[in-house]
Amino acid sequence: MPKPITIQDIKVILTQPGKSRLCVVKVITSEPGLYGLGCATFTQRIFAVATAIERHLKPFLLGRDVDRIEEIWNMSLVHGYWRNGPVLNNAISGVDQALWDIKGKRAGMSVCDLLGGKSREAAQVYVHADGRDKEEVLDNVRAFMGQGYRFIRVQLGGYGGQGSPMVKPRNAPPGAYFDPRDYCRRTLDMIAFVREQVGDEVELLHDIHERLAPIHALAFAKDVEPFKLFFLEDALAPEDIAWFRLIRGQCATPLAMGELFNNPQEWQLLIQERLIDFIRMHISQMGGITPARNVAIFAGQYGIRTAWHGPSDTSPVGHAANLQLDLWHPNFGVQEWYRPSELDYAIFPGLPVVQDGYLYPNDQPGLGIDIDEGLAAKYPCQDFVEQWTQTRLPDGGPARP
Ligand code: MG
Repeated sequence: MPKPITIQDIKVILTQPGKSRLCVVKVITSEPGLYGLGCATFTQRIFAVATAIERHLKPFLLGRDVDRIEEIWNMSLVHGYWRNGPVLNNAISGVDQALWDIKGKRAGMSVCDLLGGKSREAAQVYVHADGRDKEEVLDNVRAFMGQGYRFIRVQLGGYGGQGSPMVKPRNAPPGAYFDPRDYCRRTLDMIAFVREQVGDEVELLHDIHERLAPIHALAFAKDVEPFKLFFLEDALAPEDIAWFRLIRGQCATPLAMGELFNNPQEWQLLIQERLIDFIRMHISQMGGITPARNVAIFAGQYGIRTAWHGPSDTSPVGHAANLQLDLWHPNFGVQEWYRPSELDYAIFPGLPVVQDGYLYPNDQPGLGIDIDEGLAAKYPCQDFVEQWTQTRLPDGGPARP
């Protein structure tokens, strides 16, 4: 038996080439030159994840056999006894994705090949079009269509519709205010308008971002049904998922859910009762490729497709991991795509590219992505207090972001 290749070091790389602070994990092996990369980006609590890796996971994992991904994932999950949660799941994901990357490099195969091989050559993506009013949304939709995109998420004023006229109480504190009722009215009007203008050939999507009271989300899902969305995203908060039964019973608007999920209890029921159509966890938030593979297979048995979360606060390494899963799983639906900057491409050689609305892999093994650590270090993570998540209703009361 050859000597196993072991984990020699685990390095946390923090960088902020754009708005989002990113966390990438580099697992360095006992084999000279062999390393893997994984995404551990929980941007709002980035330093907590870094500490969890450096002070807790790393001492636990040094010296272990890099081939034993299953054992390492399962033992990492319960090693702290208390488990789940975004900080610890992201930390585990960083290592898990890196171990899949290493295994692929050793085999000379992509992660998609390790999972079972390609079901498709490229992944169809959706992009985010917003605007201050419906005309501006339409302009942005048309611009994306001109670039070859066929799946477009339409939002009025970002999530929840900023810019509504509203009467606030005296001494209203600062915050990201929004009016849920005005949002529903104006968004329905915008979706009707865009659909009428662009016709049926473009797939439109919309994200409620869990901002509505459950009964209003139910009404919105019914009201939007005639406009044939490809899917309605995060209609409910994770705390309200029992309401999916009611939405399901009353309309055929396709439902996508899961970016905030980090515990199997959150998705098991929705899949088993066929209450949603697309499962869209944030891969690092759920713990990496290992649990994502398991859920993809589980969901596929129930006819539910995947649409993994792919915002700008997933690192390019995480996007590369998303793509490998997309290429592999027969029940893939669509991939959210954030349109990286030139700087992102410079820091992360191998970051996948889009052509004609399809995201293509390269021919490199593993995740097919690398990091220029010197360049990444020139863009350190900034200290700031997140503003957009300080969301308030018109009366000033706190709301979900
Ligand atoms: Mg979303």
